[in-house]
Amino acid sequence: MTPQDPIKAPITQDVMTIPRKDAEGDKKNLVGLTRDQLREVLIAAGTPEKQAKMRTGQIWQWLYQWGVRDFDAMTNLGKAYRAMLDETFVIAVPEVVTKQVSQDGTRKYLVRINGGHEVEVVYIPEEGRGTLCISSQVGCTLTCSFCHTGTQKLVRNLTAAEIVGQVMVARDDLDEWPVPGTRTDDGARLLSNIVLMGMGEPLYNFENVRDAMKIVMDPEGIQLSRRRITLSTSGIVPEIARTADEIGCLLAVSFHATTDAVRDTLVPINKKYNIETLLDALRAYPRVANSERITFEYVMLHGVNDSNEDAHRLVELIKGIPAKINLIPFNEWPGSPYTRSSNNRIRAFADIIHAAGYASPVRKTRGEDIMAACGQLKSATERERKSRRQIESEAGIKG
Ligand code: SAH
Ligand code: SF4
Repeated sequence: MTPQDPIKAPITQDVMTIPRKDAEGDKKNLVGLTRDQLREVLIAAGTPEKQAKMRTGQIWQWLYQWGVRDFDAMTNLGKAYRAMLDETFVIAVPEVVTKQVSQDGTRKYLVRINGGHEVEVVYIPEEGRGTLCISSQVGCTLTCSFCHTGTQKLVRNLTAAEIVGQVMVARDDLDEWPVPGTRTDDGARLLSNIVLMGMGEPLYNFENVRDAMKIVMDPEGIQLSRRRITLSTSGIVPEIARTADEIGCLLAVSFHATTDAVRDTLVPINKKYNIETLLDALRAYPRVANSERITFEYVMLHGVNDSNEDAHRLVELIKGIPAKINLIPFNEWPGSPYTRSSNNRIRAFADIIHAAGYASPVRKTRGEDIMAACGQLKSATERERKSRRQIESEAGIKG
């Protein structure tokens, strides 16, 4: 890359994008459509306009409130109408290929989507709540040098159906759909929170992520409040304001470094949107005005970004932004070019941040025995990966 022209240079030179194939033939999947889209396809299939709103509401409830997958179970629809639906549409969610359960209760699902591609979904149970970590892309076009997903060569955006489908299959596995007709209770849910922190950069798949989250937040369905959804981005600045406007969820940012020189090597998109540009966008995030904190994710890499000076610089940089700093001990993966900072180093770093008045929780590593921890996700069928030398050279590390 030439220093005088950093913007035009591709961030990633080595990614193959894969087209999406619809495996369902002519039948359209109803999952993942917005209410308006659902209404339109029902009308196109012959539903009289006058009934369309009611039918949309009914089908929506069956899909997202009761988790029904079979048109025949939609008992408030007439028999002939159900038969028409069955002939025209499918209700398709990703297929769970494998499920692994960690010693700590974390569940990792490998799910297969159209075209035979696979993504990983992780469920993390905690006291009184549970968080589902979902993926937004197969692989990732960005190549953060410490991230396993970034080494995967194949990339495609997930559809809204495949994104909301991850939530649906997790609810299936947790057996958390209420019995039709009963009240959906507000008690503690097993799946109470969603983080878009799995594979992929969600803001490079904005519309599908937005539509899927709208479905998840809909008051007549899965009903998760926007405050229970956190979208993590590596810092795609132009899409940050849109996230507030069009999704309204909480934001986490993969910050990871306190100088552009270091961030350029760790999070290469920094060459396009540097620290200052990113911080400006975060200051403007409307939720910030309501003191809704932004989470700064910071992966602790031994000898790279973990000095006391880094901690002090970090505090200076984020001044004025309501923030929480989430320190993530680096999770190693086969061939990873970094090692994790020592516990003492992480503690010293956290203490400096804490003393400056910020919450600085150290993220507990969960599900590491099943490679379900942050940054370890990568689909089994797409094992082909860049060589260690390539990863190191992209990270600017001498081999
Ligand atoms: N692409 C988005 C969301 C997915 S990554 C993003 O980058 O924000 C979720 C978090 O895990 C990010 O903060 C990412 O930087 C971090 N991560 C990636 N690889 C990791 C690793 N090996 N160890 C610890 N955290 C990692
Ligand atoms: Fe992509 Fe996020 Fe991994 Fe970077 S950290 S390669 S943006 S998934």
